[in-house]
Amino acid sequence: MKFWKQQLTTKIASSFLLLSLLTVGVVGGVAFFSAREALREAAFNKLSVAAALKEEEITRWFEDQQREFLLVVEFPDVKAKINKILNDDEITKSDSQTTYEILYQYLREVNKVKPNLQEISILDRTNKIIISTNKKRLGKYKPSANVTYVEQVERGSNFRPIFYVSPDTNKLTVTLAKVWRNNAGVRQGIILANLNLERIDEIVREKTGLGDSGETYLVGSIGSENKFISEEHRKKHLQGVSSYGIEQAMLGARGLELYRNYKKVPVLGVYRWLHEQEFALLVEMEQHEAFAPARRLANVIVILGLTAAGVLLIGVYWLSRQLEISRKQLEDYSHQLEVKAQEAETANRAKSEFLANMSHELRTPLNAILGFAQLMERDQMLNSQQHNSLATINRSGEHLLALINDVLEMSKIEAGRTVLNPESFNLHRLLQIIKDMFQLRASAKGLVLEFETDPNLPHFVVGDRGKLRQVLINLLGNSIKFTSKGGVILRVKVKSWHKQYPGEKLCTLYFEVEDTGKGIRPEELDKIFDPFVQTASGAQARGGTGLGLAISRQFIRMMGGDVCISSALEKGSTFYFEIKLALAKRSKIDKSTKRQVIGLAPSQESYRILVVDDRQENRDLLAELLSKVAFDVRTANNGIEAIEQWQEWRPNLIWMDMRMPLMDGYEATKEIKARSGEHATVIIALTASAFEEQRAAILDAGCDDLVHKPFQQEVIFETIGKYLGVEYLYKGDSENYDLEEDSDSDMEEEVKLTAEDLTIMPKQWIVNLNQAAIEVDADSILQIIEEIPENNKNLAEKLRKLTSQYDFDTIIELSSI
Ligand code: ADP
Repeated sequence: MKFWKQQLTTKIASSFLLLSLLTVGVVGGVAFFSAREALREAAFNKLSVAAALKEEEITRWFEDQQREFLLVVEFPDVKAKINKILNDDEITKSDSQTTYEILYQYLREVNKVKPNLQEISILDRTNKIIISTNKKRLGKYKPSANVTYVEQVERGSNFRPIFYVSPDTNKLTVTLAKVWRNNAGVRQGIILANLNLERIDEIVREKTGLGDSGETYLVGSIGSENKFISEEHRKKHLQGVSSYGIEQAMLGARGLELYRNYKKVPVLGVYRWLHEQEFALLVEMEQHEAFAPARRLANVIVILGLTAAGVLLIGVYWLSRQLEISRKQLEDYSHQLEVKAQEAETANRAKSEFLANMSHELRTPLNAILGFAQLMERDQMLNSQQHNSLATINRSGEHLLALINDVLEMSKIEAGRTVLNPESFNLHRLLQIIKDMFQLRASAKGLVLEFETDPNLPHFVVGDRGKLRQVLINLLGNSIKFTSKGGVILRVKVKSWHKQYPGEKLCTLYFEVEDTGKGIRPEELDKIFDPFVQTASGAQARGGTGLGLAISRQFIRMMGGDVCISSALEKGSTFYFEIKLALAKRSKIDKSTKRQVIGLAPSQESYRILVVDDRQENRDLLAELLSKVAFDVRTANNGIEAIEQWQEWRPNLIWMDMRMPLMDGYEATKEIKARSGEHATVIIALTASAFEEQRAAILDAGCDDLVHKPFQQEVIFETIGKYLGVEYLYKGDSENYDLEEDSDSDMEEEVKLTAEDLTIMPKQWIVNLNQAAIEVDADSILQIIEEIPENNKNLAEKLRKLTSQYDFDTIIELSSI
């Protein structure tokens, strides 16, 4: 564990060192063992050769000595004399004396001429020495050699060396013996000759080519012990000797092996048993000396390896130091980056916070403006001039709201906080409205505007209608803006159909906006989707912020597609994208038709509603709206007051502003919900926040639902209806009205007017009406309606109704030619 906590440099260096030591060790070891193997082979060869030579020489020397000994005793004259003295019966005393003398002289001569035959004796049948070159032995019965052994020599083999330690000289002695037999084969006596072993010593001692530790020796078995034959060795080792090689040779084996010698020193040894001479020949060399070259080689390798590893280690250490420094720098750098990213994140959050606050601050007064304007519009006492002014206030207010929303939208995208709001809508109708919107602008520039839609294009789909509309408006708006001749075509094709899960169908739609305009330079193609980027011509054209395409691309990406472009300078551009939309059921579309609530349906309990808001104008607006339709309303200034009111009055429903001083809506809601137990009071949040994610926090606090400010009156009534089961009386209804059941037929009623109904009026009139509706100009629309002849009052009435309901979309639809 500790190892991995160390510095990188130390880690690399020590790993490298470990590896190099291992490598050097392995190489050194392998070299040592291979060399040792080769050396062993060579040494054994050498030892074997030496052993063979010595064996050969020793054998030859013994044979020479035997031959000479035989020559000496088998010389005819000598033989006759020996026969004579060994056979007492045949000679007289004086004769025998002379013969003894002659033989003695003869043997003395032999002694001189052949110094290797040291002592020659002749024994009679009783083993008494009757003649000997060593006078001291005469008449004795005990020759230095053990002659009982001679007795056992097989018949026919008349010669045998006898090996023993001489009791006189205490030296190792070999005696050659010849058994003397008469013609009948009966033993008459023995002739013995002691050999001078100096020469053997010399032969054995010669250590030609066996190095300093080379040693050759002969071991014979004397009594129960193995003893050295050479004089020199015997002086040092009076006791018996033993070693693996000696034992093996004594057993009659020949071989070469590694073992410990008689001094317990590890040697390479060659051993063999010399049959003729009856002793073991050992040629040995110390392993230490034999394998010295292998050791030297391994040492050299290890030293060289270590030196190289050392030099490399320095290099590696230096490199890893550099690496360590770079790593540290990188760490510092990434730390700095992290800090910067955190700072940026904090700044971004601050920006979002600021925008949320700004949005609140801007929307709150706007809420009051729009709310009161809408409220005043209900006033039947107003004249048309005042109605017109109110409509202008409303229009401008809505425009301002749209503007705030657009800038907020971009900020939300930048903060990554935009979400899709899917709804069911009529795609054909959306496209028609958009076409109508641009028709006039295109004609004014002398451009042809065409919409080519797939005959199979679905009518009712589920998707973010608002965002799709915004994207198409942006692309078409740009195309018309940057085209001066030719035209603009919007193509919508169905690319494929998919089945999701039972009952749900999806289709992939392809949208393409093609123009014959200025086009875009290839080098600018990549950039135009960046926020605030405009091409040179884009910058020249008035209006525009360079945000449109950036927002469009983000929106389409959220829908699972991407906006792409192909463009040729001065020829035109094509923007295209693909998105997948689910098909919707018709019944889900356009249910929320706006109808004006004028009161509560009869025979219902009275409902208590508490309005909580810190801004008086907001409180008053909502209180007035609700009081007008006969709800029992009270107000509270902040969370604390709200709790007090709730305790005292137990309202059925509370409209709760979320941001308030002293105690905010979150806390008040939590408190009330905690205390109200089973029969919980319904609490609906009112928020001007721009951010969708606050919804979760609001619902978490215990609110049943939330409505955004500025609100539509219908939404307020609908929400109350939804949670309290309240039934309303609508304008134009005489009876109790059930919204749920009649919503479909309600839609039918709205569309009672058809495009055909308008054909009674001149074409130009219809075009004017259409234009006024596109411009959302209620004044102009009302003026144009005035032109309808008296006998068509019904048409005029219906169009006025649509105008009063701000249903410009329907008017556009009806008046599109
Ligand atoms: P804006 O239109 O507000 O300037 P956009 O993001 O919609 O911003 O467009 C960015 C720029 O891309 C435009 O300013 C214009 O230079 C270029 N551009 C967009 N659409 C076209 C088009 N159809 N033909 C030529 N240039 C275009």
